[in-house]
Amino acid sequence: MTEAILVLNAGSSSLKFALYDLELAPLCRGDIEEIGRANMELSGPLADQLKPYGSPPEHADRDTINAWLVANLRKLPGLVLRAAGHRIVHGGRRFRGAVQIDADVLAELRSLVPLAPDHQPHNLAMVAAVAAQWPDLPQVACFDTAFHRTQPRLAEIFPLPRALTDAGVLRYGFHGLSYQYIASVLPDYLGAAANGRVIIAHLGNGASLCALENRESVATTMGFTTVEGLMMGTRSGSIDPGVVLHLILQEKMTAEAVARLLNKESGLLGVSGISSDVRSLEASPDPHAAEALELFAYRVIRETGSLIAALGGLDAFVFTAGIGENSANMRKMICDGLEWAGLSLDFRRNAASEKRISTEASKISVLVIPTNEEMAIATNTRQLICRKAAQAQFSQ
Ligand code: AMP
Repeated sequence: MTEAILVLNAGSSSLKFALYDLELAPLCRGDIEEIGRANMELSGPLADQLKPYGSPPEHADRDTINAWLVANLRKLPGLVLRAAGHRIVHGGRRFRGAVQIDADVLAELRSLVPLAPDHQPHNLAMVAAVAAQWPDLPQVACFDTAFHRTQPRLAEIFPLPRALTDAGVLRYGFHGLSYQYIASVLPDYLGAAANGRVIIAHLGNGASLCALENRESVATTMGFTTVEGLMMGTRSGSIDPGVVLHLILQEKMTAEAVARLLNKESGLLGVSGISSDVRSLEASPDPHAAEALELFAYRVIRETGSLIAALGGLDAFVFTAGIGENSANMRKMICDGLEWAGLSLDFRRNAASEKRISTEASKISVLVIPTNEEMAIATNTRQLICRKAAQAQFSQ
């Protein structure tokens, strides 16, 4: 018998899952990159047991794929689930940490759907699929927003009329599970300096920066939605709100068309006109591809300057996620633009993607740390079920 925690990460077009034993050793990881395509990557010791169940059904909708996945996980011989942990994008103001899902929590999470319409419904559909297969299994919501609830009020509010702030139009921040994981392993890399002034650059298809002190978030670049801040794969990041007004009022675009433009047609894709994928852009001789990559780095450099001001200095800078972990070129462009702050890159270490890529003389340590959002979810889930078990024992 294998006791396990199931981790589910339902993205806007992808579905990732993982199984961990109760010591948090990974048993299996699965990645359905594109919902509707019959393609799933599996790894880990239990992967061979899942392979005979085949690939997810082609052209199927999300509910069908969710049901297919949980039905197959159920068939794994000897597997006993103790809990399921979900990535839930939005926890609003109420949820400052992971929470066990009950009817009241579910109602609150549904009420947050308008704040994250591209993600929250998919997260909640997965909760329903698990409940259909295991009605009594404890399910835990782990939020992308919760890590940022340590921020000072001034970092959270917009200069808008107070009524809107009171109604919840706030800078919530995202990528919190990635930041939580990096914060948890920082002492392994930096020792006591992990509690100093650190900026983590989560540079993937979605991209943001987080400023940490004592390993807690004090400021971040994403705000009310995941469009604010850095330029991303297809998202614009921060732009003059006047551009949005111009597009609606002068160009007569609908609100939906503007939303699509800012979320799906901008960023690296919009500027290059070629691709949102850094690998393709780095391989392209087209000057528009080069300009898109330069603009991406420029925006990271400028936003880093703003976070250095929020922290009052900087001790360490961490690269993570697809671009941060893999693109030595992008890391070099960004580090070159931060030399003024006392950051000095070791070119050989950077080219080899070593753990520490700064020179010995650099005032700021520069690290490359692979993120692991699934591990953050498993950790939160285990903590919560252990705490509940201890409480139940105590009250007996
Ligand atoms: P993520 O959203 O974290 O999966 O990151 C996706 C981004 O990482 C895409 O822009 C990829 O092009 C980029 N990426 C992944 N691997 C590499 C690589 N070896 N070199 C450059 N960029 C990469």
